Amino acid sequence: METDKLNKVAGILSDNTQNTVIVTHENPDGDAIGSSLGLCQFLRVCGYQNISVICPDDYPSFLKWMPGNDKVIIAFNNFKKAKSIIGEAGLIFCIDFNDVERTGRLEKPLRKSDAKTILIDHHPQPADGFDLVFSYINVSSTAEIVYKLLKFIDQARIDKNIATCLFTGIMTDTGSFSYGCNNPDTFAICAELVKLGINPESIHRLVYDTYSFERMKLLGYCLSEKLTIIPGFNTAYICLTQKDLEQFNYQEGDTEGVVNYALSIRNIDIAALFIEKEDHVKISLRSIGSIDVNEFARKFFNGGGHANAAGGKYYGDIDKTIKYFESAVGKYRKGKFKTVQTLKQ
Ligand code: 5GP
Ligand code: MN
Repeated sequence: METDKLNKVAGILSDNTQNTVIVTHENPDGDAIGSSLGLCQFLRVCGYQNISVICPDDYPSFLKWMPGNDKVIIAFNNFKKAKSIIGEAGLIFCIDFNDVERTGRLEKPLRKSDAKTILIDHHPQPADGFDLVFSYINVSSTAEIVYKLLKFIDQARIDKNIATCLFTGIMTDTGSFSYGCNNPDTFAICAELVKLGINPESIHRLVYDTYSFERMKLLGYCLSEKLTIIPGFNTAYICLTQKDLEQFNYQEGDTEGVVNYALSIRNIDIAALFIEKEDHVKISLRSIGSIDVNEFARKFFNGGGHANAAGGKYYGDIDKTIKYFESAVGKYRKGKFKTVQTLKQ
């Protein structure tokens, strides 16, 4: 990380009297919440009093145990409060997104604000308009960047609670150290976090081993009834209607991780999960190696994300979405590769 930028942020943070806000993207994940809560608690330790974490909407219960979680403001539940806090902010941290449009209902208040903005993120193609940008696309997670920043500012103030939140961010964004983690820095940082007294085993359990019975049944249903392969295109997808979700008493986060099962099939290198929403279909995409689903999501689904994990939306019914997806994969494959490896089952 560039020393001049680190010095700049240290300078900005030396004034701990400013109203400060930390915002995340829509449908916040473990990295968005862990990074935000870690940063928030560090600033509190540094004497900041007027500091808030604001999420556009709610997030799964398996992320709600993290230290500091009780003070998070969810704009979906309390938009007036969120808007007024953003309006009074002098400093805004933008965490784990590359464009203000990723903040959904917070986009307007954020664009209106004249606060100084600091972006901390690892998604490709960051938008213009932030005052200070810490964007590193080859880093496992935003939490890893936050850790490096906090270490530069005052390592001694990183305590066990902060370390717990940051470890959660790294662990979830690497799928428990199964992707995006080929850089030794990721493990060196985790070792430093463990030395601060965190318990990786219990953190892992709190995030991954707290399925409700219905959520586990939904996973079984996805795999036995809903998993489909597009022959010749090395692509697998799962599609869930509102009716499917209701059948399993769907709760926020219940479909988290489902798409990865489709990618675990031999010779599959593109996987998708379609979820029917009120006026659109939400799409989650995953890929292996050089197949860039960020590019695919931007081109075909008005979305984005990382090269191997991206998402988007389609405004149409679920059958149309799947047809469109199948034709998009066909176009993408033909455009990108001369030969398509045939699927061996
Ligand atoms: P997920 O499939 O877990 O919802 O998202 C995977 C990745 O894609 C995350 O990095 C997320 O931020 C990004 N992503 C998901 N949906 C969208 C979208 O509609 N637009 C953009 N730009 N990124 C998305
Ligand atoms: Mn992230």
